[in-house]
Amino acid sequence: MPKPKKQSMVTTTSKIKKKQRDELLASFGVREFFVEGNITIDKRTCKGVECKLCIKACPTNALFWRTGEVGIVEELCVYCGACVLNCIVDNCIIVVRKRENGETETFSKPKAFIMLAHSISAKKRHERVKAAFPTLERILKM
Ligand code: SF4
Ligand code: SF4
Repeated sequence: MPKPKKQSMVTTTSKIKKKQRDELLASFGVREFFVEGNITIDKRTCKGVECKLCIKACPTNALFWRTGEVGIVEELCVYCGACVLNCIVDNCIIVVRKRENGETETFSKPKAFIMLAHSISAKKRHERVKAAFPTLERILKM
């Protein structure tokens, strides 16, 4: 049965890649939060040598300067979005990432990240209030 063999080879290769990636990221003290992701940089709109802010912001050195443009080491990108947050050109860097629950997020502007941070803290506040006062009845009894 040749098909299952091929499948198991693909699984082994991706396991090896994952192990290598984990080792690389461990050297930066960075943990993987997203099951998969993708990053692209639009070289037509990038300000390049005048800017390089994304390179300075990247916590894993996934971005680097190479002959006239920003290069990406995909193996080191954890899709954190620090580069998008620092980029001076909207829609120049696009980060797409998938969470463990299957939720996919796309960011290409700093504003999108600020809104995400705001929505997460609002959600956490709501959860804290709900934990302290699970029912309306309980609040009214206080
Ligand atoms: S998403 Fe994060 S890890 Fe990836 S290149 Fe941008 S700053 Fe670096
Ligand atoms: S921050 Fe944006 S504009 Fe600046 S170098 Fe990086 S990709 Fe280009």
